[in-house]
Amino acid sequence: MKLTSKILESVMEEGRKILLENEAKKVCMEYGIPVTRFKLAKNEVEAVEAAGGIGYPVVLKIVSPDIVHKSDVGGVMLNLKNSGEVQNAYRKILENVNAKKKEAKIIGVLVQEMAPPSTEVIVGAVKDPQFGHALMFGLGGVFVEVLKDVTFRIAPINETDAREMITEVKAYPLLKGYRNMPPADLNAITDILLNVSRLVMENPKIKELDLNPIIVYDKGAKAVDARIILEQLTKLV
Ligand code: ADP
Ligand code: MG
Repeated sequence: MKLTSKILESVMEEGRKILLENEAKKVCMEYGIPVTRFKLAKNEVEAVEAAGGIGYPVVLKIVSPDIVHKSDVGGVMLNLKNSGEVQNAYRKILENVNAKKKEAKIIGVLVQEMAPPSTEVIVGAVKDPQFGHALMFGLGGVFVEVLKDVTFRIAPINETDAREMITEVKAYPLLKGYRNMPPADLNAITDILLNVSRLVMENPKIKELDLNPIIVYDKGAKAVDARIILEQLTKLV
């Protein structure tokens, strides 16, 4: 996987451990993991141009190597419907970040397609020094944060493992559809789990990977956020 190795190498060369969201999403794309379309913008004019290319509504997010939890610093603005809203959001995000994390180095803002709301799931991976990568699956929001309703497998996993992971969380019945939510595309989630397994197996330098959240539809699914953290650098650069 050429692009992925290139990205991981350049991140390490710069002395960083955390990939920017656009870098993490490029890695995901190379492994066939669906992500929201995105473009990096370095100023307001570029942001409006990018939004026009992607198509409204869009989302704007801060891109900084020093910010891991973007919404905690007011760095995410959703559902922007026109160029005026994009301009305002651009300014507002920089203002928020400046107020909450003044020392953060700002690369720009990631403009991306706004994925329509639906059921949210999480797929993650954490590397254990003894067992290698553990893959995690759960439903998003309160299910993972409050109820800790998640399940784990050691990578690599096969299709049977992936399907078991999906059905063994307590919130599984919600994936079969409820109220106005359509049944979730379980094949799409299975594919993502298998591709994440392959991604971490082929890239042992990855310490942590988080697709939080992935929005799942009756057909298909899309990771709207992607975070990849590398292991401690072994040598100083
Ligand atoms: P954080 O770094 O705070 O985790 P996220 O990128 O996950 O930032 O954005 C915060 C929340 O905004 C997400 O949990 C999701 O609900 C929503 N969100 C983010 N990006 C999109 C998108 N492209 N389309 C729709 N909703 C999004
Ligand atoms: Mg997130």
